[in-house]
Amino acid sequence: MQYPYVFLDGSLVTLDEARLSIHANGLQYGVGTFEGIRAFRCAGGNLALLAARAHFERMHRSAAILGLSLSYSVEDLILGCQRLLQKNEVQDDAYLRPLLVLSEESLQVRTHGHRSRLSIAATPLGLNYIDPKGVRCMVSTWRRNIDCALPNRAKATGGYLGPALAKTEALECGFDEAIMLNVDGHVAEATTSNVFLRFGNTWITPPPQDDILEGITRAEMMTLIDEVLGQKVLERSVDRSELYAADEMFLCGTAAMVVPVTAIDRRPVGAGRPGERSLELQQTLLAIARRENSRHEDWTTVVTMAVVPHARSFH
Ligand code: PMP
Repeated sequence: MQYPYVFLDGSLVTLDEARLSIHANGLQYGVGTFEGIRAFRCAGGNLALLAARAHFERMHRSAAILGLSLSYSVEDLILGCQRLLQKNEVQDDAYLRPLLVLSEESLQVRTHGHRSRLSIAATPLGLNYIDPKGVRCMVSTWRRNIDCALPNRAKATGGYLGPALAKTEALECGFDEAIMLNVDGHVAEATTSNVFLRFGNTWITPPPQDDILEGITRAEMMTLIDEVLGQKVLERSVDRSELYAADEMFLCGTAAMVVPVTAIDRRPVGAGRPGERSLELQQTLLAIARRENSRHEDWTTVVTMAVVPHARSFH
C-alpha cells in the first residue's frame, strides 16, 4: 500500500496523476537524484521529520553536481513534506521519497536542457528495512563506483545499480547485507548505509574521499558517539582486514537507522552478538526522532496532524 497523494511540481495530486512516461529520459538512463526522509509518529499523534533540512540541502548539492536544476528552496520542500503528510492523513511511521528526474521524452544522453520533475511520495515504513536486531554481512565482489566515473556525493538514481548487484549477491550467498570496497580496496560502505567499526574506545568510519555517500545518519552518529558514549570517532581509510578484527560494528542510514553487524564473511564480530554501544545509539536516535529525548530537538521538524473526524456516510 502506498499513500494516495503525491507532491508533484508544487501541487498535491493522486498517485495515478503522477505518472511518468515510459520514454522519460530519467527512466531510460537513470538521470536523476533522490532522497529518503523518515517521518516518525510521536506521542499525541503528531509526526516528526528527521533531518529534513539536511536531506534537502544534500539534494540541492546532488542537483548541482549533476547539473540538474532544482527550483524549490529547502524551506519549500520541507513545507511540501508537511502538506503531503497532512493530506495523506498519515498516522504511522513513514518514508518520504523526494525525486528529481528528467521527465522529458528524449533520446539524448545528457543532463542539461531537458525538462525535469520534482515529486515527493510517501510510503509506510516501520523499523524493519534491515533487521534492527543485527545483520550478517559479506564483503561484496562488486566494488563501489569511483567518484571520477559516477559521483557518489550526488545521490543519483543511476548510482544504485552497483549496490543492487551487491545486495542480490549477498542475499543469494546466504548473507543479509553487503559491504562494498572501493577500487583501492578500502572499505566504502554497505549498499544503502554507512559503516562504523569500534576498536576499544575509538570508532572509525571511512572518509568522504573513499567513495561513500556522506550519510546524514553518519553525521548524527559522529555526534552521538561523542555525546552519549563519550568515545572518539576517526574518519580514516579502513582496510578490509580491520573488518575481521573490530570489537563492534554497525551500519547506519535513514531507512536502516542503526543496525548492529554480528558477522562478516561468516566470522563473528566481537562476541557475535549485537554490540551494546550500537544498541544504545540505536535507542538514542529513535528517541530523538520521536522527540522523546530532549537532545537535538533541532534535528526534527514537527508536522501537526489535525484531528480528522471519522467520515460519516449519508446514504
Ligand atoms: N550510502 C548509501 C549508498 C545510501 O543509499 C544511503 C542512504 N541514503 C546511505 C549511505 C546513508 O545515508 P543517510 O544516512 O543520509 O540516509
